[in-house]
Amino acid sequence: MILLVDMDAFFASVEQAHHPHLRGKAIIVCGDPSRRGVVTAASYEARPFGVRAGMPLAEAKRLCPHAEYVEGNPRKYVEKSLELLEMFLTITPDVEPFSVDEAFLDLRRLPGRGQTMESARAIARELQDRILATHGLGASIGIGPNKLIAKMASGVQKPRGLTALTEHEFRGVFWPQEVQALWGVGPKMSEHLNALGIPTVSALANAPVDLLKRQFGLVGEHLREAAWGHDQTPVIPYHEGLDPKSMGHEVTLPEDCRDPEFLEGTLLRLSDQVARRLRSDGFRGRTVTVKLRDFRFRTVTRQRAMATAIDDHANLFEVARLLWRENWKGEPLRLLGVSVSALVHADQEQLELFTGDERGKVLQEALDRVRDKLGEASVVPAGSLAHRRSLRHVPFGAAKRGREHGEGYAEGADPSAPDPTQLKPRPRPRDDA
Ligand SMILES: [Mg+2]
Repeated sequence: MILLVDMDAFFASVEQAHHPHLRGKAIIVCGDPSRRGVVTAASYEARPFGVRAGMPLAEAKRLCPHAEYVEGNPRKYVEKSLELLEMFLTITPDVEPFSVDEAFLDLRRLPGRGQTMESARAIARELQDRILATHGLGASIGIGPNKLIAKMASGVQKPRGLTALTEHEFRGVFWPQEVQALWGVGPKMSEHLNALGIPTVSALANAPVDLLKRQFGLVGEHLREAAWGHDQTPVIPYHEGLDPKSMGHEVTLPEDCRDPEFLEGTLLRLSDQVARRLRSDGFRGRTVTVKLRDFRFRTVTRQRAMATAIDDHANLFEVARLLWRENWKGEPLRLLGVSVSALVHADQEQLELFTGDERGKVLQEALDRVRDKLGEASVVPAGSLAHRRSLRHVPFGAAKRGREHGEGYAEGADPSAPDPTQLKPRPRPRDDA
């Protein structure tokens, strides 16, 4: 089940929560009440008078002369929005903020809870109570088997509504309604559909696919599915929607190590992993950071900024090795890490910087394709092989593509795990474990 939490008259309610004398009153949030402008938000007390967001202030004043005007404070609303987000994240990690006052919560990964309509209802009711108790704000929640139904259900009953719809119930509620009631159908599209003899959601659901495809292409097909209550769009968790600030890998060595060749091989391997992740996620970075932790758990991080953003292991390794050589005094090391920050989208970088190394780029892409297909172990930098042999472990596990790229060895063989072919001392815990 998926929830869509929609805050009731959000800006106006935040003002009422902050200023007790405004509670229970018709209030209008606007830019600057002394100047001409439009209504940003109206409290539920003002709405029966016909006041709506986007309406000129002059008209609102005429409709609801007794309303109080409050100058909006966008920063306050964003802060409140983030506080609410934190609360949602205590329920499930799968939270997608949809607007400043709306968020999707995917309950499908919650073990045991959130699978049925009844448990989802209980979670939603609890959440409404918490929002009211903690923030003094009302919320309407829609529940459905997908985002489309959750979103549309949230609008069925407001304020403080709680509406859960199955696919079947969705059709019962929305099929008789005008086609514009469907999420994604705006005034233009609805006009177009009306002209084609499709006035209602049910007419859209039963319209010939060919006709819709001819008129609207892929969108037409999608809208027809939506009319049936079908939707496959994933909830994209908050943290995955944001650009990363850095990308890195670190590894706790199998045993404290002062062998320069081994350490250098490890740096090369880490550089290769980070570079590969940069490329697969479409980033380049300008700042390289190396992290060294010695046997006493003393940690040093050193970084160097470069003129050009990079995404290849050779350049990354060169800088990482330099930093390591400058900062390692020969003490046994327990952990090594390499990361790249000051990231830019690869396609934003000026390409002429790389024209000098066209062959290298082609080679890199070819190697990436090989590894996409055959796994990370299929091609590795030669310099990282020496310690691979000496330790008898495979430094790269089979490739797991997509969002699985984690820190350290999340995607591959963990060097701290015992080698099944060999009796070894007890594995040591990873530092981040
Ligand atoms: Mg709202």
